[in-house]
Amino acid sequence: MINKDFNEKCAVVGVFNSKSASQTAYFSLFSMQHRGQEAAGISSSDGKKMHTIKDRGLVTQVFDEVKLATLKGDIAIGHTRYSTAGDDSILDAQPVYARYDLGELAIVHNGNFTNAEPVRKKLIDKGAIFQTHMDTENLIHLIAKSDKTELLDRIMDGVKKVEGAFSLVFSNETQMFAVRDPHGFRPLSLGKISNENGEDGYIVASETCAFDLVGAKFIRDVKAGELLIFEKGKEPKSIQLFEPNPHHCIFEYVYFARPDSTVIGKNVYKLRKEMGRNLAKESPVEADMVVPVPDGGVPSALGYAEESGIPFNMAIMRNHYVGRTFIEPTQKIRDLKVKMKLSPMSEVVGGKRVIVIDDSIVRGTTSRQIVRMLKEAGAKEVHMRISSPPTTHPCYYGVDTPDQEQLIASKSTVSEIAKYIEADSLAYLSNDGLLDSVGRDLNYCQACFTGDFVIEPKE
Ligand code: 5GP
Ligand code: SF4
Ligand code: MG
Repeated sequence: MINKDFNEKCAVVGVFNSKSASQTAYFSLFSMQHRGQEAAGISSSDGKKMHTIKDRGLVTQVFDEVKLATLKGDIAIGHTRYSTAGDDSILDAQPVYARYDLGELAIVHNGNFTNAEPVRKKLIDKGAIFQTHMDTENLIHLIAKSDKTELLDRIMDGVKKVEGAFSLVFSNETQMFAVRDPHGFRPLSLGKISNENGEDGYIVASETCAFDLVGAKFIRDVKAGELLIFEKGKEPKSIQLFEPNPHHCIFEYVYFARPDSTVIGKNVYKLRKEMGRNLAKESPVEADMVVPVPDGGVPSALGYAEESGIPFNMAIMRNHYVGRTFIEPTQKIRDLKVKMKLSPMSEVVGGKRVIVIDDSIVRGTTSRQIVRMLKEAGAKEVHMRISSPPTTHPCYYGVDTPDQEQLIASKSTVSEIAKYIEADSLAYLSNDGLLDSVGRDLNYCQACFTGDFVIEPKE
């Protein structure tokens, strides 16, 4: 059984050569909190020793000034983690840290190894003892077992034995390394920070919104298959470790990334608006207003409204303070959670024909509740429009889509889904429409929409 529950939906950051490295890592993680709310952690290096703090909770809950002050040194790597319920053990928070024959080592990982199971099995057969459920721990063992005498060579050995999606940052006492898998599934960007001594400092982060918050200057994206080496007094050194075969996650543009981030040179907000425009062109419907499901549906609803000329209304309010419910996510709890989070305004939708825009339908819970709530609030008609194609397949590359049986579009046609969510009509953006929206200049992974997986997970 492929276990997809680990290291999913995460953010990573690495800060090199800055007196306030751990603070910069903290603010970066704060700006990338949307990528994972279960746990957060930072490891810093003071040149001689490493210091790690990680715990369950939001970035602001895990860290305070006193804790950050103990994370000394001018290197810091950090992580925020999302996990499905039941696997939120503190041991499964990152950075993954280890002492080994060369000293100390910390790793943060965004993505999923598709060969995690066989690699772990082989390591266990050879006597390795695992402390966590995380596939990232495989890498610690691979690095510790390598017979090379330099960490760089061991990292190169180790990452050549893993497959799948990985945007990784490593640090030891004095160096930092960043690696992106040959497909470049998960994003990773490189920026420059001005160091207190007037020297160059560097930052790598999952999203450029982190750079904006900490005042870093975007340099470029880390390339698919590239390894970056950060050493004091030197420019980052680049090694093209793998032949690049880009399959950038298109879902980052649809849902995952923050709209103000630039992912592989493209502003996410603009692309989402374009998705809404194309959706309006493909699937028009006569109505009185366009209403987004906040927050994900807002940019595409703006695009839909602009293209169709139908007025935009924020007729569904979102309560931002709904955190995690510490109860098993049964269907009943999920239903209640949608109600806690979203409420429609009858004063606005009463007697009206409403087009509701969301970014995706996973299980159908949110859409079904929203249609019901809008009807209860007096909407005359509710037309659901989705700014991406039907999600028919789970993701093996680091996004927490549930198993295939739970994906409503894996077993139902669009008209069956429309019936299930009780909408007067339902339409999704086509695959072509999505590609037109994001631009055809790059090669994307679209497997959760097409089933076209470039690497299959290994049992
Ligand atoms: P559903 O209620 O259909 O299961 O989920 C649809 C909602 O979940 C949409 O509003 C969408 O914004 C959000 N969503 C889409 N993909 C993901 C994902 O990978 N993880 C989480 N947590 N939410 C998602
Ligand atoms: Fe992204 Fe979907 Fe591919 Fe996963 S399967 S990497 S979510 S496009
Ligand atoms: Mg949403």
